[in-house]
Amino acid sequence: MKSLWQESEASKCKDELDMRVYTSRLLGSDPALVLHGGGNTSVKIRETDITGKEQDILYVKGSGWDLATIERPGFAPVKMDHLLALAKLDSLSDPQMVNELKTHVTVASAPTPSVEAILHAILPFKFVDHTHADSIVTVTNTPGGKEKIKEIYGDSVVVVDYIMPGFDLARQCARQFAEEAHEKTVGMVLLNHGIFSFADTAKESYELMIELVTRAEDYIKSKNAWVVSENVQQVEVSPIRKELAQVRRDVSKAAGKSMLLCSDRSSKAMEFIARGDISKISQQGPATPDHVIRTKRLPMLGRDVDKYVKDYKAFFDKNSKNTKEPVTMLDPAPRVILDPELGLLGVGTSANDANIVLELYDHTIDVISRASKLGEFCALPAKDIFDVEYWDLEQAKLRKGGRPPEFAGEVALVTGAASGIGKACCEALLAKGAAVIGMDISPDVETVFDRADFIGVVGDVGDEEQVINALEIGVRAFGGLDMLVLNAGIFPGGCALSELDLKTWRKVMSINLDGNVALLREAHPILKNSPKGGRVVFIASKNVLAPGPGAAAYSASKAALTQLARIAALEWGKDNIRINVLHPDAVYDTGLWTEEVLEARAKHYGMSVADYKARNVLKAEVTSKDVANLCAEMCGQLFAKTTGVQIAIDGGNERVI
Ligand code: ZN
Repeated sequence: MKSLWQESEASKCKDELDMRVYTSRLLGSDPALVLHGGGNTSVKIRETDITGKEQDILYVKGSGWDLATIERPGFAPVKMDHLLALAKLDSLSDPQMVNELKTHVTVASAPTPSVEAILHAILPFKFVDHTHADSIVTVTNTPGGKEKIKEIYGDSVVVVDYIMPGFDLARQCARQFAEEAHEKTVGMVLLNHGIFSFADTAKESYELMIELVTRAEDYIKSKNAWVVSENVQQVEVSPIRKELAQVRRDVSKAAGKSMLLCSDRSSKAMEFIARGDISKISQQGPATPDHVIRTKRLPMLGRDVDKYVKDYKAFFDKNSKNTKEPVTMLDPAPRVILDPELGLLGVGTSANDANIVLELYDHTIDVISRASKLGEFCALPAKDIFDVEYWDLEQAKLRKGGRPPEFAGEVALVTGAASGIGKACCEALLAKGAAVIGMDISPDVETVFDRADFIGVVGDVGDEEQVINALEIGVRAFGGLDMLVLNAGIFPGGCALSELDLKTWRKVMSINLDGNVALLREAHPILKNSPKGGRVVFIASKNVLAPGPGAAAYSASKAALTQLARIAALEWGKDNIRINVLHPDAVYDTGLWTEEVLEARAKHYGMSVADYKARNVLKAEVTSKDVANLCAEMCGQLFAKTTGVQIAIDGGNERVI
């Protein structure tokens, strides 16, 4: 592990809090040190308050901030004298402790100080750095871990047995530090938890952290236990979309809400899952209690969700008997799934959450593999893990957060997603919390949105193989499919029937109709497994209801598409899949309608462009966004009991009315 300290960057810091931000970010940028909020830092600064009184303030990481991206307001200023007084109490419950921390900050808008604030306060150094470094967790999660730590560090660190984070841990650390620390003490190792470094300058404390963790890494290397997997490529497997969708349905049922399944099929993950001893090593417990809330105690091996739920209930019943306050069981669905075919799956209500689970488990693989080579991986006893999962502070975090978005945990596929109505549909569905698979013949689809909950797949909807491929890629990305928006289509330009050649006719039919037949057929078994029931929206056209001359191929293709929707509604109602049709008209903000085309058409009718755009009963301009919002709404609760209908979005058309 290398120090990332750069004098040129450090010299830009104008005060000690700036320095604190700088080295915190350095720690946060290495996932082997700090992963998703799993560490905290502090600095002690003497300040004068508004009345002229001088006092020491502990600036400690606030909850909700990540070290990788922390800024000055991410540090909560807590009064040191109060923290030191708290450390002398005999006992303090966790909610009481949080109350004391929150009420003794000097800035009203400060975030809630880290629950490890008292621990930072009792260490008599200006800068304190704390991480849950993989290597420390690896060494301490083995039989004789404590002895190995002593072998690595001698008596230069204070070693504290596992205690759950909170007041008791802070008090124990204070006691041991007072008794055991000496001139040469440079750190403190908390078994099965992490490590502290401290010094009077930011640089020294940061570099001590790097040095201490490097020593643990070197120890692991010296035992030939470092290398986990030398391959990095993805493992190719045959189609798995149907199986994935079934597992997702079962997991969502157990969770009581729709969940996404994001997957990792790297050689590293696949080799780990294929290990002969996987049923033993993966079922010991998590690498660190820090992971419990996101990964649950154990991963699910294979696909038997009912069995997993049964085991989880038994674990809950056994451990909840003697809790101080009565606790309610959390949803018993797994968050990590290890399956030899499906790969490593991360479960979450958003792509972001599911990806965090994958990242945490990737580090778990490192820890378990290395610890196994050091002897054996052994996690904390189930009771300790239970106490963390059902810790009142963690429970409070879970209860916060308000109402989830309407499509949280759901997946939509939109064709023709790179521009126009298709792109607007993606936006509307993403805004309601869905993960979206965008398919388009244009490579722009790959970059049209840069976010974890969107995947763009290049493909021609007129080509059956490419349609199937897009569906497979999309379902692998998010685990299933709940909503399908059939939007892709072409309008070949005006052509009288007397002039229409079959080549054009067939091309229009192939893209506007045939591709959708294949997509519907292949999507059916996946939509059938949608936890809340599948939904399909067909983007047809006003031409179905009021055809215009010169658009034979286009109008006929959209009319056939509409008829296809009606059949699908009849056939798939029993599978709880709703099918509805939208007929947009005169949507001029799409790629088809350039300024020049608009001006030419308006001139043709002797109108201004604005009047031309609003040639309808309501004199309203219809936009892609209007169509997209209605499309998203048709996938939502408002239309939960509607199937097989056709709705025009055209500002009102006299010929249709
Ligand atoms: Zn910690």
